[in-house]
Amino acid sequence: MSRLDPILPGSYLGILGGGQLGRMFTQAAQAMGYKVCVLDPDAHSPAGLVAEMHIQAEYTDHQALAQMAKYCQAVSTEFENVPALTLDELEKLGVYVAPNSQGVSIAQNRIVEKKFLATWQREAGIGPAPHAVIEREEDLAHVAADLLPGILKTARMGYDGKGQKTVKTAEELREAWQQFDRVPCVLEKRMDLDFEVSALVARGHDDEVVIYPIAQNMHRQGILHTSTVPAPAINAQQAQKISDAAKEMIRRLDYVGVLCIEFFVLKNGELVANEMAPRPHNSGHYTQDACVCSQFEQQVRAMARLPLGSTAQHTPAMMLNLLGDEWLSGDTQAEPAWAEVLRFPEAKLHLYGKAEPRQGRKMGHINLIAKDSEGLNSLCAQVSAILKINRQE
Ligand code: ADP
Ligand code: MG
Repeated sequence: MSRLDPILPGSYLGILGGGQLGRMFTQAAQAMGYKVCVLDPDAHSPAGLVAEMHIQAEYTDHQALAQMAKYCQAVSTEFENVPALTLDELEKLGVYVAPNSQGVSIAQNRIVEKKFLATWQREAGIGPAPHAVIEREEDLAHVAADLLPGILKTARMGYDGKGQKTVKTAEELREAWQQFDRVPCVLEKRMDLDFEVSALVARGHDDEVVIYPIAQNMHRQGILHTSTVPAPAINAQQAQKISDAAKEMIRRLDYVGVLCIEFFVLKNGELVANEMAPRPHNSGHYTQDACVCSQFEQQVRAMARLPLGSTAQHTPAMMLNLLGDEWLSGDTQAEPAWAEVLRFPEAKLHLYGKAEPRQGRKMGHINLIAKDSEGLNSLCAQVSAILKINRQE
């Protein structure tokens, strides 16, 4: 088979990571007639439960990777901390790996990521927040005073606000770095955010690039709370600038698949590039019910070397994340009142099949559909009241 032939339905596609992103990827692939092989060490992973094959092993297990390569012509990743060596090993075994390890590894390390994002500062006028790299003791002494108050972020393994600490003084910075066991970190200046958005962009093997409408994201306690699309607060010029930058970035990375890039819109109107996720993203879940082709189907198409699908949005939408908190009240645990929520015919429920609800754990989401952002806000308020969602900022 030539390198550029499409991988057709009936074949196995592989996914590294068995979380909810892997599960929704699996379901989209199956809807198109593919079979899916999931690699995840967890016996009860959300994706492993629905895939045709689940290899329960570590991402560095050579035997497991060899088995995956035997079944799958193409492999993608849903877990952004999959070791780059895993992707390289699969590639050496003849598997089409999309995205490849270069794109994935940039997003895995905030220091490298900031450097990459800084290359757009001059070209597109969108760079990362002012920051300093903290790798050794001496770096602390060289931190410019105007980076404080700032946020110290570990270079690796951070997500949902984990591995982050707000620091106001040089002393707090030193303490926070100690608490992080002096691992490599980035200290970022705390910016005056007006609101946050994300750009979801996809690239095919043939360099076709498509982009979804910009999503406006609201976080609660460091975790995504809602995404609203179209983004109510963004102006046309900002949206254009972000879209242009995102398309350039995915090309520059020679990246095949779906990529999400988070941006801050500052109170003074300036744009800041925050971080990238080398996979479908929580803020793109609205595409399942509001776009012609969902982000998961798009990932399938890209990795199978098929033409990309339409990113057109056919209705305004808001995604509301469901956390374990919605199952818990004091010491008791109960299934939320789904029947009441679904009395709203334009509320679309997506649950990930996780058995154990924990505080802050992503259990599912609801995509809300309405004709405008006022309608979305009202629907969200009603659904949140039923589910007793009252998250503080
Ligand atoms: P992750 O999503 O991996 O946890 P982020 O870097 O996206 O980490 O930070 C999480 C959230 O913290 C952001 O969505 C934003 O609300 C806030 N935040 C992060 N960096 C800054 C910053 N430099 N200034 C202001 N707020 C920030
Ligand atoms: Mg983030």
